[in-house]
Amino acid sequence: MTNEEVLAKGLAERIGIEGSRVKHTAKDKEKVVIEKPMSDHKVALEIVLDALVDSNHGAIGSMDEINAVGHRVVHGGEKFARSVVIDDEVMKAIEECAELAPLHNPPNIMGIEACKELMPEVPMVAVFDTAFHQTMPESSYIYPLPYELYEKHGIRKYGFHGTSHKYVANRAVEILGDKMEDVNIVTCHLGNGASLAAVKQGKSIDTSMGFTPLEGLAMGTRSGDIDPAIVPFIMEKEDLSLEEVNNLLNKKSGVLGISGVSSDFRDIEEAAEEGKERAKLALDKFNSRVKKYVGAYSALMGGLDVLVFTAGLGENSPETREAICEGLEFMGIKIDKEKNNVRGKETIVSTEDSKVKVLVVPTNEELMIARDTMELVK
Ligand code: AMP
Repeated sequence: MTNEEVLAKGLAERIGIEGSRVKHTAKDKEKVVIEKPMSDHKVALEIVLDALVDSNHGAIGSMDEINAVGHRVVHGGEKFARSVVIDDEVMKAIEECAELAPLHNPPNIMGIEACKELMPEVPMVAVFDTAFHQTMPESSYIYPLPYELYEKHGIRKYGFHGTSHKYVANRAVEILGDKMEDVNIVTCHLGNGASLAAVKQGKSIDTSMGFTPLEGLAMGTRSGDIDPAIVPFIMEKEDLSLEEVNNLLNKKSGVLGISGVSSDFRDIEEAAEEGKERAKLALDKFNSRVKKYVGAYSALMGGLDVLVFTAGLGENSPETREAICEGLEFMGIKIDKEKNNVRGKETIVSTEDSKVKVLVVPTNEELMIARDTMELVK
């Protein structure tokens, strides 16, 4: 952390199923793929730690050099507005939030437990995807449903991608040399999962994902906003169970559902170029919804100074950025086509005279987790 350098990066995949492996790359060394059966997260972490201290392809001399571990935890509910050092009470609270994120929090807990077992003396920190959005006013997070549902079941907007929205907002202000207190920012995290956030004076005041990551934009496979009456209607007409309708909205909708081609924007862009109408429609739907949220959030904040694009599509698709900004000149957004022709690079893509500065900022959630972790264990 002295100079915030990445010493090693990697990925453990297919835990608990056939073909499990750890990919590992240490700085200035060749990438290695360790193919070993991994029955659970503890075994996976043992392999990761072995790789880190390996004399050939490792990154550190011994385990003693690990002073802390930062964990990304998806759901912190209303309990966590910032990162925290993990103790028994925090573990209990994360477990309580598992009901709200059944796919994500349980594996997060397994990861923390495995690390605690392997490194009992090392402090652990939890960094929550929901924390940044805890500054939303009640008028943003409450749904127009019977208020008791919020009180009884915690049904409200939580928002996600918080670590990413926070990172790119901060980075944009640094690049521009502005003061956070002086600017209204809309951050667009456009990946397979996608969300926007309205960041006023450094605080998230609204975001497009909601109670779950299904609300908001049209995504790779998720529907985003639809008329809620469609749900019982299609359940009846198509004879779908709760699980089936959930699956339809989360896995078969979005740009995949409209295009019938793929959930990957690269495939859809290609199909659109070949003249496939539904692929073009899927892209138009995606872009127009982002545009609508940009307008809505600008209104909510009383104006817009900075627009930031990040994540797979936001960083790598000049066409998407151009299509979203097209027609927003009336708001002071002017893209410079030449500057916009970049992929995966931190840069300003608006014209010199654009009132709103438009930036591409590759996200870096790992760095945010590392910074928070260091700050808390220092
Ligand atoms: P993420 O979830 O942030 O990893 O983003 C994944 C999405 O970004 C996928 O749908 C990719 O198709 C899209 N993406 C990545 N690179 C490009 C690219 N060069 N052009 C268009 N889309 C891209």
